[in-house]
Amino acid sequence: MTTLLLTHPACLNHDTGYGHPESANRLRAIEDALAAPDFKRLKREEAPRADLAAIERLHPKAYVEMVQAAIPARDHNWLDADTIVSPGSWEAALRATGATLYAVDQVMAGNADNAFCAVRPPGHHAEPSRAMGFCLFNSVAVAALHARAKHGAKRVAVVDFDVHHGNGTQAAFWTDQDLLYASTHQMPLFPGTGALNETGVGNIWNAPLAPGDDGEDFRAAFEGRILPALDAFAPDFLLVSAGFDAHIRDPLAQIRLLEPDFAWITEKLMEAAAKHTGGKLVSTLEGGYDLDALASSAAVHVKTLMGAAT
Ligand SMILES: [Zn+2]
Repeated sequence: MTTLLLTHPACLNHDTGYGHPESANRLRAIEDALAAPDFKRLKREEAPRADLAAIERLHPKAYVEMVQAAIPARDHNWLDADTIVSPGSWEAALRATGATLYAVDQVMAGNADNAFCAVRPPGHHAEPSRAMGFCLFNSVAVAALHARAKHGAKRVAVVDFDVHHGNGTQAAFWTDQDLLYASTHQMPLFPGTGALNETGVGNIWNAPLAPGDDGEDFRAAFEGRILPALDAFAPDFLLVSAGFDAHIRDPLAQIRLLEPDFAWITEKLMEAAAKHTGGKLVSTLEGGYDLDALASSAAVHVKTLMGAAT
């Protein structure tokens, strides 16, 4: 397997301010973990900038211009109580979304089997016209539309195992039966969406977990609800919102996953990809706020993508 790893130093320059959980140290922790000899075979590239035209397939031009206008010349600005931008945020956001788009291009072209985008800011809370939850542009949703527009994909699925519900991706896909969004997430928890009965046009598959749920509950949610839906949908491209904040050590939630649970879901998604998409899968970092747990969980995810998990 050839796994592409995309990142960009500009993603470190999105400064959310002192004490914010979504910090540049998250990416540094992942970079350190992926510097180990096990990861030598990764195909490493720098993320290009996303074209605004690609972003504007999802986000209205007025929204994109609002985000750009909100970037301060110095210090910080607040798009909401949690979503903070600094002078480096625009470039970081373009590289984060650009990584995901470029990964789709490379995997579609057969230059890699799959890809992981180690980028920030994250994206799955960004709605078409609303920044929230640390997110500016919804990279996976933009990438899904890109896979259709540029590569002729008919049905694109996003599977999201971040501990928070990806309200932005759900909102983006809500009325489009050729886009599937499936998510496990803690409820109740930010952002408050993600109930079982939020089903869109039959294309939204939420599997909420209760605080305290563990790997057994997580696997049951996937096996009982999400994986069968994904199989029935038969996507021709698969995107993953890979958040690692359902780890037991994470400070923002109360789900109790361990590293083997992240290896397990990665294997299951690779099996679905092997069956439906010729193995084509692009995964993008969302959350994960305990630095050690984030690094070890992302490492197990990438190692599994490489086909090298034990
Ligand atoms: Zn999260």
